[in-house]
Amino acid sequence: MIEDKNQQRTNLSELGEFGLIDHLTKNFQIKKTSTIKGIGDDAAVLNFEKKNIVVTTDLLVEGVHFDLSYMPLKHLGYKAIIVNLSDVYAMNANATQVTVSIAVSNRFPLEALEELYAGIETAAKIYDIDVIGGDTTSSNTGLLISVTAIGEVDPEKVVYRNGAKPNDLLVVSGDIGAAYMGLQILEREKEVYKVNPNNQPDLESYSYIIERQLKPEARKDIVKLLSDLDVKPTAMIDISDGLSSEIIHLCKQSEVGCDLYESKIPLDPQLISTCEEFNIDSTTVALNGGEDYELLFTISQEDFPKIKANPHFSVIGFITEKKAGLNLVTRAETKIPIKAQGWKNFSD
Ligand code: ADP
Ligand code: MG
Repeated sequence: MIEDKNQQRTNLSELGEFGLIDHLTKNFQIKKTSTIKGIGDDAAVLNFEKKNIVVTTDLLVEGVHFDLSYMPLKHLGYKAIIVNLSDVYAMNANATQVTVSIAVSNRFPLEALEELYAGIETAAKIYDIDVIGGDTTSSNTGLLISVTAIGEVDPEKVVYRNGAKPNDLLVVSGDIGAAYMGLQILEREKEVYKVNPNNQPDLESYSYIIERQLKPEARKDIVKLLSDLDVKPTAMIDISDGLSSEIIHLCKQSEVGCDLYESKIPLDPQLISTCEEFNIDSTTVALNGGEDYELLFTISQEDFPKIKANPHFSVIGFITEKKAGLNLVTRAETKIPIKAQGWKNFSD
């Protein structure tokens, strides 16, 4: 659908590989002082002096991680950057550079890749990062995008998953579950479209949850806020794979247990109403949905006054001894063990 909307279709072979790379990357400018050499040589050159460097990679595959029938390429380019930056921020680091590698089949015209790169450029601008390189190759079928993000952090500020201690508070940024229900709406509309392509869906009442799926943001602001509040989390993780599986990772690596309060999980009203419409339990969605690029972290109790009034943060539970296990305390005040649901990419 999306690709066919383009009026002009310039075949990629008209440019050749080098012409294509030059064309797509011509707008990228170097802004960071840590970038010595960006695109154009055999490798980029960086200088971080006394900082520690964090490096993270994500691979996005058409048909597995995204569906181009409802994901505009510009949004895809943007999201491909965001998912990586989120991992950098989860280390309490600042993102500084990315590399972008793509494998693309000749069913994509140049105009489609221009859209993809427009999204990448927008994200680079908003998050103040340099695009310093990548690789471009052909694919027999779909589109693949691999982004590597680089960040810097003062050595004493880096936060791992393994530092949580009993009695620490469990805190999450933003709200959870919306991206998953946004995807459910998009999937539903795709089916409706197949039956009746002239149907113009009214998605106004789902605008927030759809945006959480199609145009997520990474919580760069939270890293700055924590620094401004003089709070160093004892452990941190990004919750892109779903709250329950990330809590399990954090507790396992920290060798602790936790009590997570169902009633404290932050949910947007639009998520709640959409769950009611689909007859799905909103807690299940919040625990297992995924793709909310929020940060989950633990802080020592003495830092609580620094964060308690802040609308970006919700205290959702606390850390316990390992032997107490990982529990969800329900609204009815019963404790049930937290289990990870297998990530959906591997479910079939
Ligand atoms: P090499 O032959 O060494 O792999 P390339 O010709 O592939 O070099 O790339 C030339 C330059 O363009 C390098 O700086 C590389 O990092 C950059 N580059 C290649 N593909 C991309 C891309 N898809 N996005 C951004 N930069 C790219
Ligand atoms: Mg190359």
